[in-house]
Formats: sequence, C-alpha cells, structure tokens
Amino acid sequence: MKNQPNCPENPELTRRGIIMRTAVLSIISNVVLASVKISIGMLIPSVAILSEGINNLADSLSSVITILGIKLSERSSNHKFTLYAEGFCGLIISLIILYTGIQFLRKSVLLIFYPQEMRIAPYVIIIMGVSAVFKIFLSRHTIKQGKRTKSTSLIAIGIECRNDFIISAITLLSCILFVLFNVSADAYAGIISAGFILKSDIGVLLDSIKELRGS
Ligand SMILES: [Zn+2]
Repeated sequence: MKNQPNCPENPELTRRGIIMRTAVLSIISNVVLASVKISIGMLIPSVAILSEGINNLADSLSSVITILGIKLSERSSNHKFTLYAEGFCGLIISLIILYTGIQFLRKSVLLIFYPQEMRIAPYVIIIMGVSAVFKIFLSRHTIKQGKRTKSTSLIAIGIECRNDFIISAITLLSCILFVLFNVSADAYAGIISAGFILKSDIGVLLDSIKELRGS
C-alpha cells in the first residue's frame, strides 16, 4: 500500500495499520476454517480434523491478542512498553497453543487403544485440500508482512500457518487412505498434528520470553 491517506509521515502508524489488516485477515479465515473443520471433525468423527479445527480457533485467538497488543501500545508512546506488550501477547498465545497441543496428543494416543468408527465422504477430501492450499498463501502473506513491519507476533502467526499446511497435508493423506483402503490412520495423524503444534509452539514461547526479558 503506497498511499496511506492518514498521516504519511508517521511510519509507526502505517506499521500498525499493516499489522492490523494482516491480523484481521487471519482472524476471519481461521474462524471460517475452524467452524468447518470442527463440524466435520465431530460428524465423522475424526480427532485429526477436530484437532485442526481447534488449532485454527487458537490461531484466530492469537490474532485477536495481537490486535489487542497493538491497541494497547497505541495508548503509550513508550517504545519499551510496546515491545513488552508484544512479548507478553506472544507469551499468552503460546501458552494457549501449548495447552491445545497437549490435549490433542492425549486424545490421539487414547484413540489408538479405543478406535472410533469413521465415515469420510469425498467432499471432506476436497475441503481439506482447499484448506491446505489456502494456508500456504496465508502463511506467505503473513510472514512477508511480519518481516516488513518487524512484528514478531505476525511472524509467529505466519509460521504457525505454515505448520497448519503440513498438518492439513497429513490429515488429507489420512482421509485419502481411509476412503481408498478403509484404513484409519486418524490417531497417528492426530499425534503428528499435536507434535507439530507443540514443536512450533515451544519456539514461539522461548522467543516471547526472550523479548520480555530484553524489554
Ligand atoms: Zn494453527
């Protein structure tokens, strides 16, 4: 965006605008994806798809917290406070995701011992495929805007989005396996999914702590 109508001399205002727009895009798309995946996940039922849905819901929450952080720092001209607010937001986001990851790891491991009956219609495969492709574009866009604005929250959201793509690809593969060969890899897809959530989250958690201690 070249022409910012409000205050072109203030780069901080432009920076906030870009972060806000990117975060809002992430909220809207993740709420839509979460509603679709949670409904399908409960219908089948599939722990891998349900886990993805909850993951996307946590992602939209992360973006809401990012916006809150921006709003909070707008009220203060103190740069140190802004950094602190953003580090604090990152910490809350990663703690929420940590909790989600542990819950789904537990759920998926239990599923190995107590398997559930599943019914996967072809439309599920189409929806999961579209969702995976969409996540690649969203991730690229968010990371690009995050680097441009030097926003750690935005970069964290973008990296999370990239992990979502990998998770979606694994879930998609598991659905295709089920439809073609009637083999359920749902519990294992769920474990991989939870593992990815936890692995990426610990990185964000450590970064937030570093940021908080530095500010
Ligand atoms: Zn996610």
